[in-house]
Amino acid sequence: TFKSKILDADGIRRAITRIAHEIVEKNKGTDKLVLVGIRRRGVPLSERIQQYIEEFEGVKVPLGILDITLYRDDLSTIDIHPVVHETDIPVSIEGKAVILIDDVLFTGRTARAALDATMDIGRPDRIQLAVLVDRGHRELPIRADYVGKNLPTSRREIVAVRLKEVDGEEDVLLLER
Ligand code: 5GP
Ligand code: MG
Repeated sequence: TFKSKILDADGIRRAITRIAHEIVEKNKGTDKLVLVGIRRRGVPLSERIQQYIEEFEGVKVPLGILDITLYRDDLSTIDIHPVVHETDIPVSIEGKAVILIDDVLFTGRTARAALDATMDIGRPDRIQLAVLVDRGHRELPIRADYVGKNLPTSRREIVAVRLKEVDGEEDVLLLER
């Protein structure tokens, strides 16, 4: 059930443009950047960041995709198997600044699996994490370098991220199970 609207289309656009600027600023330009979207909604987010960076810097930075699913055996969070289904990173990440991009950061387990998958591929200089929403409840020592919106939630709540490329709608909603 619907509780509240957290971001509308303009709010999402402003958050992603800010993140795009922050990525370029923190990495002192675009030279080393490799963007990696985590499926599913991290992919359109990473494409938008790529497009914004191209608008301000005139450079199209490379973009890859990681597809990771977490399988929970039961309701306990102790036994979780991240499965990396697909890694499509079309450039060498040797010496690069890899920016992992996802829609929501929750326990941190997906980010951790994404770190493992990235380090299996090569040796980047650094790896950073960008998320549209940080909803809290971390179970690992992981934090995002770039956050669109910090949203304290209860575990019973769900953050619905709807992006036009995937959902035909564009907003972030807080729902209750
Ligand atoms: P974590 O692995 O940090 O527990 O969860 C993050 C991953 O699960 C992300 O890939 C994200 O897409 C998804 N996820 C976890 N919680 C939510 C949520 O409340 N809303 C949405 N849209 N995705 C979530
Ligand atoms: Mg996801």
